[in-house]
Amino acid sequence: MLEFSKFPYKNDFFQKILVKWYEQNKRDLPWRDITDPYKIWISEIILQQTRVNQGLNYYLRFINRFPTVEILANASEDEVLKYWQGLGYYSRARNLHKTAHQIRTDFQGVFPSDFSKLLQLSGIGEYTAAAIASFAFNQFHAVVDGNVYRVISRLFGIDTPIDSGIGKKQIALLAKQLLPEIDPGIYNQAIMEFGALQCVPVSPDCMVCPLQPYCKAYASDLVNILPIKN
Ligand code: SF4
Repeated sequence: MLEFSKFPYKNDFFQKILVKWYEQNKRDLPWRDITDPYKIWISEIILQQTRVNQGLNYYLRFINRFPTVEILANASEDEVLKYWQGLGYYSRARNLHKTAHQIRTDFQGVFPSDFSKLLQLSGIGEYTAAAIASFAFNQFHAVVDGNVYRVISRLFGIDTPIDSGIGKKQIALLAKQLLPEIDPGIYNQAIMEFGALQCVPVSPDCMVCPLQPYCKAYASDLVNILPIKN
């Protein structure tokens, strides 16, 4: 049973705690604190199946060679694939190249900001469209990755499997309800980073967690049980 009404969401209390934590603890990464949708898109596609440490050098090399969507569209597919070599899942690179062409042809070379238009681009699904809309354009879209699933499941003590249809719906609804109207982009990045660094999958250090007083998993001794997966 969710007890959202008892959660300290009024006046963005919880969100402010999270954003403050983020400002103090976030990793210094080149796709942070930027609003260029092209660079955010490249980073999101690289990080889809790659860890941050491994993806970082690929990102830097890629952006150095293809700094704009126009330059990427003008490159040959062979060259794009060369810069992807070693990252695996080569369909990602092919889609990037295809999408760059699509942006040049259908959007006059300007990255679309509209969520439904982002979804029309090759290789961009709901998650990536929400990330670009939120991080680059500060739009009101909740970005729900594996880290966010874990944080919300623990904070609210959700024991529905997060990989079930009902579990996904529950988390998506809560993620949307928690989204602040002011600066949703920063908040989205904050909760994702909080999951990556503080509320980690195994044995998080709850003693130093600023959300511990509101965390149902901590109060019920379920931290290492949640989230549940089928
Ligand atoms: S108290 Fe522990 S389980 Fe709860 S949000 Fe903080 S780190 Fe995660």
